[in-house]
Amino acid sequence: MPDISAGRLAADDYGKNFSDVHPPLGAHEAVVESDRCYFCFDAPCTNACPTSIDIPLFIRKIGTGNVEGAAETIFASNILGGMCARVCPTETLCEEACVRNVAEEKPVRIGLLQRHATDRYLESHSTYGIRAPATGRKVAVVGAGPAGLACAHELALKGHDVTIVEARGKAGGLNEFGIAAYKATDGFAQREVDFVLGIGGITIEAGKALGRDYSLADLRAKYDAVFLGLGLQAVNALGVEGEETAGVVDAVRWIEDLRQSPDKSTIEVGSRVVVIGGGMTAVDAAVQAKKLGADEVTIAYRRGPAEMGASRYEQELAQVNGVRILHWVAPRQVVSEGNAVAAVDFERTALDASGRLTGTGRTLRLAADQVMKAIGQTFVSGPVETVALDGGRIAVDEEMRTSLAKVWAGGDCVRGGEDLTVQAVDHGKRAALSIHAALSA
Ligand SMILES: Cc1cc2nc3c(=O)[nH]c(=O)nc-3n(C[C@H](O)[C@H](O)[C@H](O)COP(=O)(O)OP(=O)(O)OC[C@H]3O[C@@H](n4cnc5c(N)ncnc54)[C@H](O)[C@@H]3O)c2cc1C
Ligand code: SF4
Repeated sequence: MPDISAGRLAADDYGKNFSDVHPPLGAHEAVVESDRCYFCFDAPCTNACPTSIDIPLFIRKIGTGNVEGAAETIFASNILGGMCARVCPTETLCEEACVRNVAEEKPVRIGLLQRHATDRYLESHSTYGIRAPATGRKVAVVGAGPAGLACAHELALKGHDVTIVEARGKAGGLNEFGIAAYKATDGFAQREVDFVLGIGGITIEAGKALGRDYSLADLRAKYDAVFLGLGLQAVNALGVEGEETAGVVDAVRWIEDLRQSPDKSTIEVGSRVVVIGGGMTAVDAAVQAKKLGADEVTIAYRRGPAEMGASRYEQELAQVNGVRILHWVAPRQVVSEGNAVAAVDFERTALDASGRLTGTGRTLRLAADQVMKAIGQTFVSGPVETVALDGGRIAVDEEMRTSLAKVWAGGDCVRGGEDLTVQAVDHGKRAALSIHAALSA
């Protein structure tokens, strides 16, 4: 019988295991850290930030005791600066670019400084920004994830009335349903949603879906502009025999259950867990499985460490938490016993002379009580069938305009993004500025 169960840990351990992965800086620590910044001219950290936050400026403000001003500098560029401070892979963005990121030094801890400023601000402010006088123009935003929320806030700031159509019962998108529990603790995602909506002029129709309750034609007829921030709704299949066996789960759905459960001890996890994939979802699923008390967790990835979607830091985080990462293996079959998973058969892979990934014929069996599929998500185009796609996602120009008049799109559902929260925020804001320009013309 496979060993899958809930409540593997002592009650106290759940709180400890799912506490903040990076504890926030204290006030004194933040000032000391801000002092390490050289306040570079044409700062490389700002250039590396998808939302172009003026990083030296906000760090200087922290250093001079103006923490509120620091937060305002951040929110002026990125209204979800609080979540981005928690989830951005800073090691491949601003902190990688920091001039202090050299062998004998460490980069300035920009993410933690950003969190320090934005957390303080959220403690004492219900929102950021003051709305411009009402324009009388109406915009529909589909999807209340980071892209939709950033777009809605910017439009509301400009005086437009925004209606967000959101398929789920609550807003936040993957900030609420996907991001690892130890990155967004204490209900932060919903607090941030409230902060964004606090600007006014934004109505949310939760539980209403494009493609079911509205067609795109309905929205185009009723509103002056439409923004699509639908994210990715389907998960890729492994395409191997035995995939439907009990105990094989979709990592994104499993993480969603974990995020939504107020009591982590109710989430079932296997004793031996095999996670198939190499991105952030694979690492998040594996680390959280370990934190729930799984005995052995292995991430199995078909290529090498350099090709993994998860950054080097994320890979280290997995290893520090006791997760084994196995490279150059591709799943070939889920082996069952009775009606439940017992193992996964892999074939070792390699690059052939032309650099193509190929099977070597050598196999490997990993015993497993639970298998998590984390090999990527795909865009479901059904609700927007009249919009042109490119590579399976919505095609947009540099202003996030789609092929349809009056329709913009951004975030994970568009072609060419990096599938990061901060990228979605940037898309949403850029689209809002383009919509505003179109409505003001
Ligand atoms: C498990 C996991 C962990 C991740 N961890 C990180 C991380 O640590 N750092 C990071 O930067 N990025 C991370 N990402 C990626 C990041 O979450 C996404 O890039 C980001 O959420 C994309 O924002 P979005 O607004 O485009 O889409 P989403 O966040 O997916 O939001 C889309 C919204 O649209 C709604 N919707 C969909 N279809 C319809 C419809 N037909 N009608 C109405 N509403 C609809 C959905 O319900 C959802 O609320 C992670 C992703 C996953 C899956
Ligand atoms: S690159 Fe580093 S040192 Fe220079 S401004 Fe940015 S954070 Fe400061």
